[in-house]
Amino acid sequence: MFSTLRGVCSASAKFRNTRIVTLVSFPTRSVKNFPKVPVERCEKRLNIPAQIQLSNRKFHTTNRRDIPPVLALILRPVLRIGAFIFGRTLRKWWGKIDPSEREQYAAFLRKKKPYLYGFLGAFFSMLAIYYVLHIENAPITNRPRFIMFTKQQQAAFEKFQLELHLEEHMDKILPHNHPVYQQLLKVTTRLLNANKDLPYIKEKNWTLSVIDLPENNAFVLPGGNIFIFTGILKMIENEDQLSFIIAHEMAHSLLKHAMEQVSNGFIIDVLLLLPIVIIWALFPDSIALILQLTGYQILNIFHDLPYNRALESEADEVGLTLSAKACVDVREAVVFWKMMRSLEELNAEPTNVTWLSTHPNHKDRAENLNGLMSKAIALRGSYQCPGLSPVDPRKKFDAQSIKDVEARLKLRGVL
Ligand SMILES: [Zn+2]
Repeated sequence: MFSTLRGVCSASAKFRNTRIVTLVSFPTRSVKNFPKVPVERCEKRLNIPAQIQLSNRKFHTTNRRDIPPVLALILRPVLRIGAFIFGRTLRKWWGKIDPSEREQYAAFLRKKKPYLYGFLGAFFSMLAIYYVLHIENAPITNRPRFIMFTKQQQAAFEKFQLELHLEEHMDKILPHNHPVYQQLLKVTTRLLNANKDLPYIKEKNWTLSVIDLPENNAFVLPGGNIFIFTGILKMIENEDQLSFIIAHEMAHSLLKHAMEQVSNGFIIDVLLLLPIVIIWALFPDSIALILQLTGYQILNIFHDLPYNRALESEADEVGLTLSAKACVDVREAVVFWKMMRSLEELNAEPTNVTWLSTHPNHKDRAENLNGLMSKAIALRGSYQCPGLSPVDPRKKFDAQSIKDVEARLKLRGVL
């Protein structure tokens, strides 16, 4: 299954089995003592998350005939395996036929070389035209990107994804009257209302689901279905940090990052078809395997990971804007990532090596957000928000020693 941009996005298995909700400003009633949502039948599950209704949900449908997202997901491994099988079969067959027959085939190919080049040229030209015709600008940031799915297909995929995740977590979803759910709903609704001037906000059918599990994670589905694990709440110190985290997840959905990732991955797999066939046709199995795996590693390090980190940074940037409009103390976003960085220093979380990670490291995230801070604070001011506290939480955090931070984290049950 493709990545649904899980996480705030640095989930660590290290925090499993630790205490649940100890958020300072949150109700202290244990999540575990609260009744679970009765879910008996599949069709009821769609009603579990509260739908945060705004207005005028619109879908602009087109008649374009493209590949549906689910099919694209299935086709990706099929293409890779198909190319491997075809290339290898070609080599085995070539090894079995007579030398005279080989020479006949070689002569035939030499004769047909212009047609072969013509076919390849036409294929790659059509692919390039298809790519260019499917480039659209990302909302808010206006970054051009390739998305190969129609809005209808995206809507069907969004529904499919939601059902899949609700089914996975059906026994752990907190009821709507749970105080933690209510608190998170309040923050989410505030963010949505503050940003309802954005048409992309109104187009989505936002939902919120809180999963009662100790995972340090939150994620959003393409359709605007926000999932928050109670485990992450102990990492968050206040409502401003929580707002930023939810806004970051909302940004992923608004920017259609999941659809972009599937589209991008599909086109790369199509481009890899020919190299895979050539590798398996020319080299013995062991060498072909090494070449293919090395190729994937190179692609991963030089394309996939930087690309995913760029999407994360974009979600941080847009999340900060959404938060500023909701009068959040946006400086707390920096404090949150500084805190995550401190966890690394305290060896409480695996060190995030940037070039090997799908997410920017915590220090880089804090610095990136800091760089955007004056703009975000000015934006906040233009929305008639109450003035920020004269005590800058970033400076307050920086004034602490690592021992002080450790003590704070211990107090909250994080360490
Ligand atoms: Zn993210």
